[in-house]
Amino acid sequence: MPVIHVLDKHVAELIAAGEVVERPASAVKELMENAIDAGASSITVEIQNGGISYLRITDDGCGIARSDVKNAFLRHATSKIQNENDLERIGTLGFRGEALASIAAVSHVEMLTRTQEEELGTRIVLNGGEIESFDDAGCPKGTTIIVRDLFFNTPARMKFLKKDVSEGNAVANVVEKAALSRPDVSVRFLRDNQERLYTPGDNSLKSAIYSVLGKKFADDLIPVSYESGGLRLMGYISKPFAARANRTMQNFFVNKRFVKSRTCMVALEEGYKHSIMTGKFPACVLHIAIPEDTVDVNVHPAKIEVRFENEKRIFDLVYYGVKSAIMKSGAQPEMHLAG
Ligand code: ADP
Ligand code: MG
Repeated sequence: MPVIHVLDKHVAELIAAGEVVERPASAVKELMENAIDAGASSITVEIQNGGISYLRITDDGCGIARSDVKNAFLRHATSKIQNENDLERIGTLGFRGEALASIAAVSHVEMLTRTQEEELGTRIVLNGGEIESFDDAGCPKGTTIIVRDLFFNTPARMKFLKKDVSEGNAVANVVEKAALSRPDVSVRFLRDNQERLYTPGDNSLKSAIYSVLGKKFADDLIPVSYESGGLRLMGYISKPFAARANRTMQNFFVNKRFVKSRTCMVALEEGYKHSIMTGKFPACVLHIAIPEDTVDVNVHPAKIEVRFENEKRIFDLVYYGVKSAIMKSGAQPEMHLAG
């Protein structure tokens, strides 16, 4: 007969970590979200070898007080929510208190952090989740976290990583979405010591789009600004003739969080019906602002899928917002342009 036993803490920790950190890109996503939640106005992301051997995220946010630094690495430890009621109304990107614990469990982590009030910052080093050192550090206000040798102690996970190039591309993708999610935050991305992205953080979505998606993309856009019953849609959609061969250029953000939403995608494409050729897809960078208690972000650990209290209202918001923007722009249907 098989015997049931409770797994030891170390194994349980590795399993839990695996759910949050799947690859370098998921670590970068969590760490950038922490920087944004900390109120950073600028974030730098640096990676080597696709982020597998090295990644560093530097922010100028609020920092972590010395007395809290060790707690930040405990599982289910967070400063962002207090009780179950708060789960109904999540106003931060993070709230599970799992990212730092998970990342630390499967890598070598070094963190430097200082709050405004502190004269001296703190440096903590962890090795597979175990604290190795904890000292004073002279550092600017904010937080720098360096993650080395991701999955060094989980060979099974290591084996499933793709080549450095693919992992690096996945990281780039995460950084780009973050930059588009917050045009008020300056984002810099260096890959193997080369600067790959810089957004000015001037709070203009257009300039973030220009930096992330390029001049050609930014030049062929129709602005969208639409409001209905307390819901707001704003951003840019592609002119019908600038449609794409696939949906990879469809970017939706709900309350500044990048999301994948079928409802939004279908509504967008319905809005273009009759003005775009079949087999072509519109591109967009659209921000949806809705009351926090009408969207559930606690659906999936990566928080990329969300559940809307009222899907129909979201559909209508996107559909009518897109449709009216296309009409206002006077954009001609693709068929006519093609003659
Ligand atoms: P969560 O983001 O869900 O709260 P994390 O494990 O990502 O959980 O982080 C734990 C806590 O550490 C956060 O709640 C926050 O208080 C603190 N923290 C993490 N990263 C930063 C950062 N870059 N700047 C300031 N505080 C941070
Ligand atoms: Mg977090």
